[in-house]
Amino acid sequence: MQLFDHHVHTRYSACCHERYDLREIAMAHDRLGFPYSCVSDHVHSGRDGGFVAEHQRVRAGLAAGGFEKPVLVGVEASIVDFEGHLPLGGVEGQPDFVLCSDHWIGDTGITMSDLQGSARRVRAMHDADPHALKALYADVARMYVKAITRHDVDVLAHPFDTFMRASNFDKALLDAFGPVCEACQAAGVAVEVNNQSVKRQMELFSRTRPLHADCLPAPEFYTRLFKVAAGYDVLFSTGSDAHVARDIGDLRRSRQFIEALGIPERRFLSFDGRTRPGG
Ligand SMILES: [Zn+2]
Ligand SMILES: [Zn+2]
Repeated sequence: MQLFDHHVHTRYSACCHERYDLREIAMAHDRLGFPYSCVSDHVHSGRDGGFVAEHQRVRAGLAAGGFEKPVLVGVEASIVDFEGHLPLGGVEGQPDFVLCSDHWIGDTGITMSDLQGSARRVRAMHDADPHALKALYADVARMYVKAITRHDVDVLAHPFDTFMRASNFDKALLDAFGPVCEACQAAGVAVEVNNQSVKRQMELFSRTRPLHADCLPAPEFYTRLFKVAAGYDVLFSTGSDAHVARDIGDLRRSRQFIEALGIPERRFLSFDGRTRPGG
């Protein structure tokens, strides 16, 4: 099965601590046999996105040097609020594709930058106000729907990862995901199978005690989440979400997960049709 790496970071993403750039990504993807290469650095705020023009310059240099495979310059745009806004105002030039994802949940204080604090907040809601928690899940689902319908988005990246990073594998999130998948189906937006998320959910978190009795074990939650998506006519997208050079193009865990779920190759997003040599 031919999979593609649509999600890769470089030193332009603050969380990436190695100094490689698009040149190394293109070389790594080429070496691994991918038919085209992609890069997708973070756009967390309107101040981010100058890197798109820089990547495009590197791409032009690669083409001028005889590199023949297509290279796509995308962005991973954070969903900044419950209205689903993406902070694309600072992006210089036209990205070839847009991933959107949550790294924090509105102004709730539930955020990837404070996982322990986020876990405490969510656990307190489980105990004190489960109705408010379910309402929050519905708000997050609506946030995704707004993000993908109000913006020109190609992929919903790592859905519910902020909750999952905080060890919240609540069954009720599975119900909230249906309407999101319906919207992805209608808008032609692919749902991402993120290699880092698969690794965390299926392996690293497999022995993690879920946050609360309402939660499932991490692997079961993640498997059921993607069974929900598979029940809709949505495409899937794969990505290494590499933040270090050795992870570029590594889709091994995603591949195992996809094969176990039996999702066929034709259901995976390919940018082959929109690429041109050197561009
Ligand atoms: Zn992300
Ligand atoms: Zn990422």
